[in-house]
Amino acid sequence: MTTTDSSNRAPAPGPLRLVQEFVNTLDVEEGRDLLADRETFAAWLQEQGLALTGPSPGDRDIAAATELREALRALLRANAGGEPDAEAAALVNRMSAQAPVRVELGPDGAATLRGAGVLAAVLAAAGTAMLDGSWPRLKVCVDPECEWAFYDRSRNRSGHCCDMAVCGSRHKVRAYRSRQRGTLSP
Ligand SMILES: [Zn+2]
Repeated sequence: MTTTDSSNRAPAPGPLRLVQEFVNTLDVEEGRDLLADRETFAAWLQEQGLALTGPSPGDRDIAAATELREALRALLRANAGGEPDAEAAALVNRMSAQAPVRVELGPDGAATLRGAGVLAAVLAAAGTAMLDGSWPRLKVCVDPECEWAFYDRSRNRSGHCCDMAVCGSRHKVRAYRSRQRGTLSP
């Protein structure tokens, strides 16, 4: 895959970045899943400054994180123009009951949402973005072979694709191939 720092592949700002990184632990296109394996999961946690207090992530941590990740992906699909996903919302609510997020005030009285542990940290980041209005700009690419989480920087929030240079060219190749098949068929 070509990497690029341009346009929509650039990271989301503020707390949304954690949500974006979390959703992108699965690279649909490449079939790479950082949560699927204890070691890569632990390495990812460390990278995010979320190292677990206990031992390395167990099967239940992996299952819960994967469930939350896919629920968030469904919510980001809705941000990209898809249907709202009530099941995903319910799952987030259930997880939030198990991984509570709390309000923490700074010395200046400014409030921040915080949570201990991976799930709560991700939920706190998503909740903050939902309240500050930046959430609708975090989307997943509408290409089902991609589904990469990207931050839509377009002025009117109309972006549907993670990056035209990467994803758009793939769309073109597929369209070209199907046209070719069309013309070659007897
Ligand atoms: Zn894409």
